[in-house]
Amino acid sequence: MLFLFHVLHHEAAEGGAVVQRNVGGKGKGKATSNFPDLSKHNNHMAKCLTEKLYNELCNKTTKGGVTLDECIQTGVDNPGHPFIMTVGAVAGDEETYEVFAPLFDKIISERHGGYGKTQLHSTDLNPEHLVGGDDLDPKYVLSSRVRTGRSISGLALPPCCSRAERREVEKILSEALAALDGPFKGKYYPLSGMSDETQEKLIEDHFLFDKPVSPLLLASRMARDWPEGRGIWHNEEKNFLVWVNEEDHSRVISMEKGGNMRRVFTRFCEGLKKVEDTIAKRGHSFMWNEHLGYILTCPSNLGTGLRGGVHLKIPLMSKHPMFENLLKKLRLQKRGTGGVDTASTDGTFDISNSDRLGSSEVDQVQCVVDGVNLLIQMEKRLEAGLEYLFNG
Ligand code: ADP
Ligand code: MG
Repeated sequence: MLFLFHVLHHEAAEGGAVVQRNVGGKGKGKATSNFPDLSKHNNHMAKCLTEKLYNELCNKTTKGGVTLDECIQTGVDNPGHPFIMTVGAVAGDEETYEVFAPLFDKIISERHGGYGKTQLHSTDLNPEHLVGGDDLDPKYVLSSRVRTGRSISGLALPPCCSRAERREVEKILSEALAALDGPFKGKYYPLSGMSDETQEKLIEDHFLFDKPVSPLLLASRMARDWPEGRGIWHNEEKNFLVWVNEEDHSRVISMEKGGNMRRVFTRFCEGLKKVEDTIAKRGHSFMWNEHLGYILTCPSNLGTGLRGGVHLKIPLMSKHPMFENLLKKLRLQKRGTGGVDTASTDGTFDISNSDRLGSSEVDQVQCVVDGVNLLIQMEKRLEAGLEYLFNG
């Protein structure tokens, strides 16, 4: 049922807006009667979507046929999330952000700290600009990771792509990545041909995305046709990886054990450049514009698409009453170490940047490096039984 969505015929409106297309059902009817009940919802979409706005946008489609209902279904079906404030909407293609701008601009502003319609995004992928970051204390920092997403222009995004488009994304990426060499020489492993044991082991070791069981992913229809067209590419050292057709066309990841975030970010920047070059050589480019930066499926990832994070062991600090507030002030977010849908049970957290849009990659990784250093200092003071978290 979830995977079925009907494209209904364009129907002339008589005496009011008529909804042409809906997800999972025949959505004909007056727009007002189709407005979802969002009264108990706590996500950015629900906060931004008024009935008036819905009526204004519900009959529009992008050139590729993406509708508003397809974009918001995940937020309608998932009123809230136990651990994070979700966005509640996804993009079906690049044009989604333009055609449904009256809604997405509001969501983007809510999610990205008031980011305005005329603001320009900035990019800095020069690791030399990072200050420090090579010596996060490995007693507390178990592993370091930087990831981003990239979408291939001209193809619909995972919530709305056809099977053919998904296969095309896989073909473009796997062929392009096969050309990488030196420390970036690697191999593509499609999920379809992978044994359950191998898959489980890769997930357990934090290399591979989880199977899409989360209601957020299911309701946004990213799990259609699973596992076809999905896969993971990685270099021989398994410290530079590319996920294919998970939540985005591609996710590019650099990771390793310990606290050398500087080395992880340096490899990330170098590898990403190589990926971009090899894609360009084959006549493809990534979705990008100067206002939104890199265009990705979830509005929360617009901008750099970067999530730089560490698995951080801070059993004392994480129980301190100041912890939540401090994370907010430091522009950091927390997750459990098993990924976005998990909570920490042992005082070890995935701590990462919460900003993506309007600041650069370097700024965002710097924010993680500085924030994590501070949290470690505080943890040490608590270990020593000191009353004050700050010096002096
Ligand atoms: P993403 O933002 O990359 O989608 P998720 O929260 O969905 O991140 O987690 C994806 C996987 O990456 C999970 O297996 C998670 O444990 C792993 N992961 C995330 N951050 C780190 C890290 N700093 N070190 C090791 N593994 C990590
Ligand atoms: Mg994820």
